[in-house]
Amino acid sequence: MPIPYDRLKQALLTEQASLTRELNELQSTIKEEGVGYSTHPADEGTTAFDQARDLAVKVSAEHTLKLVDDALARLDNGTFGLCLDCGQEIDAARLEAIPYAPVCLSCQAKREHR
Ligand SMILES: [Zn+2]
Repeated sequence: MPIPYDRLKQALLTEQASLTRELNELQSTIKEEGVGYSTHPADEGTTAFDQARDLAVKVSAEHTLKLVDDALARLDNGTFGLCLDCGQEIDAARLEAIPYAPVCLSCQAKREHR
């Protein structure tokens, strides 16, 4: 099955836009919570919890955005769809599911078992 580059590029751009928006929203939420922290001591527990959760979401969104950016860069330089670890072509079905996947399935498994 050939890799549907155009469709995957579209999916990546959509993902990039929504992650960027999400990060912007999180950024302003985190700031607001930071301001409320000292003025509402009764909400402290909730606020600390919300902050931790928002930060975790932020870190994960930033991580995914980095993968999306890298994938778009590879589309531009012609190496998209090649595994970063072994250089083999990544299965098209895998790319359909995760267009920003940087490595093939077997290398992904190796990374996770490291
Ligand atoms: Zn590989």
